[in-house]
Amino acid sequence: MDATIIISILLGWFAGLFINYASDVLPVTRRFSQATCPQCQTPFSWRDYLTLHPCRNCGENRGLRTWLVQVLTVAAFAYFWLFPSKVLGIPLGMLVLIYFGIIVVIDLEHRLILHPTSLAGAVLGLVVGTYIHSRINDNGILIGLGKSLLGGVIGFGVMFLFYQLGALVAKIRARRMQAAGQVADDEEALGGGDVYLAGVLGLMLGLDFIGLGLAWGIIFGGLVSLLFIIILVMRRRYSNAALMTFIPYGPCFIVAAALLLFQP
Ligand SMILES: [Zn+2]
Repeated sequence: MDATIIISILLGWFAGLFINYASDVLPVTRRFSQATCPQCQTPFSWRDYLTLHPCRNCGENRGLRTWLVQVLTVAAFAYFWLFPSKVLGIPLGMLVLIYFGIIVVIDLEHRLILHPTSLAGAVLGLVVGTYIHSRINDNGILIGLGKSLLGGVIGFGVMFLFYQLGALVAKIRARRMQAAGQVADDEEALGGGDVYLAGVLGLMLGLDFIGLGLAWGIIFGGLVSLLFIIILVMRRRYSNAALMTFIPYGPCFIVAAALLLFQP
């Protein structure tokens, strides 16, 4: 075993802390604010927050997600340290992992893909896509940039069409529910955030891989939905309503993009 794996474990632990931090504060304040206890809203001191100390006011333990993210991030960093992505390399791969982690956690917990994270993702996506596509066949930077941009346009465009289709279905459904004397809800299967996310992933995957990415994303939709139901049952938040309405498109497409980007 390579002794430098210790470095990846340490980096993974800090990356996990950052994913947890961003997932705790961004959905609430939309900026990198001071973290507060989700139970009693008492602000954490930085020292307590970063050492995963329970809340000093109400004694609330740090949740299951916090520990899950720490363990999974360390595992992922160690794995990709040993088997790095050929197209991304280690440093860029770690950045992409952190980004994917934040999006997945926030989307699963809040069913939300935030605009600031999409904007940051667009910058990262453009760098990743340009890097990958300028390396394939030794293309120049400009060809790489062009392919990245085209991938982004295709990802955004395809999901935008799905989004419009979903909005149409929702409208028909609401009309039927009203006709049946029920109160119409405004459930949308596909959120606007998913469209921006598809654009970001399109920038990363670029023209050469966005088609595969979209196809795999739809296939993984089924698998990730199953996983999500298991998580809901485990967290005792399972209900028929949640099952009927929540299809985690965002995480599905991230799994698909990750599989394409992180092939060793
Ligand atoms: Zn508390």
